[in-house]
Amino acid sequence: MTVDFLVIGSGIAGLTYVIKVAEKFPDKKVLVVNKGGYEDSNTSLAQGGVAIVQQKNDSFEKHVEDTLIAGDGLCNEEIVRMVIKEGPRCLNDLVNWGVHFDKDHKGDFDLGKEGGHSKHRVVHYKDITGAEISRALVAKMNQLKNVEFLGNHFVIDLITEHHLKDQPSDATTTCYGVYALNEEDGNIITIKSKITVLATGGIGQIYKHTTNPRVATGDGIAMAYRAKAKILDLEFIQFHPTALYNPQETPSFLISEAVRGAGGILRTQDGKSFAESYDPRGNLAPRDIVARAIDTELKKRGEKFVYLDCTHIDQNAFAQHFPNIRNKCLEIGIDIHTQFIPVAPAAHYVCGGIAVDRNGQTSINNLFACGECSRTGLHGANRLASNSLLEAFVFAEKAAQRSTELINGINGNIYIPDWDSKGTTRQEEHVLITHNRDELNEIMQNYVGIVRSNERLVRALNRLKILYLETENLYKKEKISPQLCELRNMIAVAYLIVTFSQNRTENCGGYFNIDLEERFFSPT
Ligand SMILES: Cc1cc2nc3c(=O)[nH]c(=O)nc-3n(C[C@H](O)[C@H](O)[C@H](O)COP(=O)(O)OP(=O)(O)OC[C@H]3O[C@@H](n4cnc5c(N)ncnc54)[C@H](O)[C@@H]3O)c2cc1C
Repeated sequence: MTVDFLVIGSGIAGLTYVIKVAEKFPDKKVLVVNKGGYEDSNTSLAQGGVAIVQQKNDSFEKHVEDTLIAGDGLCNEEIVRMVIKEGPRCLNDLVNWGVHFDKDHKGDFDLGKEGGHSKHRVVHYKDITGAEISRALVAKMNQLKNVEFLGNHFVIDLITEHHLKDQPSDATTTCYGVYALNEEDGNIITIKSKITVLATGGIGQIYKHTTNPRVATGDGIAMAYRAKAKILDLEFIQFHPTALYNPQETPSFLISEAVRGAGGILRTQDGKSFAESYDPRGNLAPRDIVARAIDTELKKRGEKFVYLDCTHIDQNAFAQHFPNIRNKCLEIGIDIHTQFIPVAPAAHYVCGGIAVDRNGQTSINNLFACGECSRTGLHGANRLASNSLLEAFVFAEKAAQRSTELINGINGNIYIPDWDSKGTTRQEEHVLITHNRDELNEIMQNYVGIVRSNERLVRALNRLKILYLETENLYKKEKISPQLCELRNMIAVAYLIVTFSQNRTENCGGYFNIDLEERFFSPT
């Protein structure tokens, strides 16, 4: 297959890019590849909404300031300003593409408030904003004649010089497309592209407890790393403080931060409110602080969950804003108007990833990255709630603009060899893969979680090395499968998270190591 633009992933980042380039170049071929169906993505699960300055008592400056505070000194201020200023235009495009957002009785956008935000500025559609965005973007994409969607195709690796014969030794790296596995017939196809975009989303599945769907296995970051792209800030994993505690369920269902914005109060199992003793902003302090406060209480008390108390919130208002959350709780026997909701932190968002410039360009020629798999500099050490959908949109658009400038100058006439599957014929017991995946989840959960230590990181690395050797051994002999590729990718990303953590010398934002200087308020 040969295309002009190849996009891997159909979340908000991938589809925004697709719509922008396909509309600009109706005569060029755009291909979207997804290892699942259209809507298998983090985007589809987003609840709270998109942070966009709207009201007169708010300003870009205040949103910038909140983002910089959450990022704890590591944000790139120029990028923060650029992204936040693009907010209203992003909203305009999304609305024009058919996304619905809730309005108030005056016809203005209804604005939610989330942790770390000084103002109400989160536009949303009930508590299923992501599903609504995904629905509208897929519908828009389907209207574009030059776009083809290839579902159930797992992208295995980027094609760069090291796959080509007779490459000059001093060549700078360029991306020429990808190898992808057809999950239905097991064939591996070569997709040649002039421009390739990684929009592969998050990494949450590396952890045992996560809000991320099954597709979030860090494939894009691992592929980019193998192709020697620059990766940054992977030690900053954001744990959402309030995932519904329901051990039977994976991924964990999220109780949006907007519920605390609407007045929800965290309580220990004996009913005590505790968030304000960790930070003056109490229940609405940034996520890293609230997650650590909960983690500290759980460890101190030997308990597995705390409660979120919403019993005092107006029933009608709750039902109107959070129908999905209310129904989910009812499904497992919790009436939020009379009972507290059991919650615990879960891995939620990766702040770092594939390093990109302000146009979404990676360190590899003709390879762009946008959305959660990329590291733009917006989030620093900790993402401010509801900034990620905005970031994904803005960088997808910037990448599309830059791609349209480059495309006509790219020579796509390169010989690419087919995937070499020599020697990979064995079909071992699948259980070898699932056992290693379970072990990886335990390692990351126990040793590389909300609170880390030098010793825990060393333990994690030692165990990861064993998993790496076993999995590489399987990969060399085994008939390739999505499960094996995902395991391999997750081990690579886990290794990066641990080594980036070991290199960090100061606690900051979402990163906390008990052996480093304290920068976290203990309870007063
Ligand atoms: C429960 C939940 C609630 C959230 N709420 C909010 C919120 O309210 N506001 C906010 O701003 N952010 C929120 N986030 C974060 C936000 O949803 C994500 O950061 C954002 O949607 C990421 O978009 P994306 O396009 O980068 O990736 P995704 O939407 O995750 O899409 C990635 C795509 O890549 C595909 N893919 C991955 N690997 C491969 C491969 N090897 N081959 C082929 N395809 C592949 C996947 O199948 C998927 O389609 C939330 C996240 C979760 C999990």
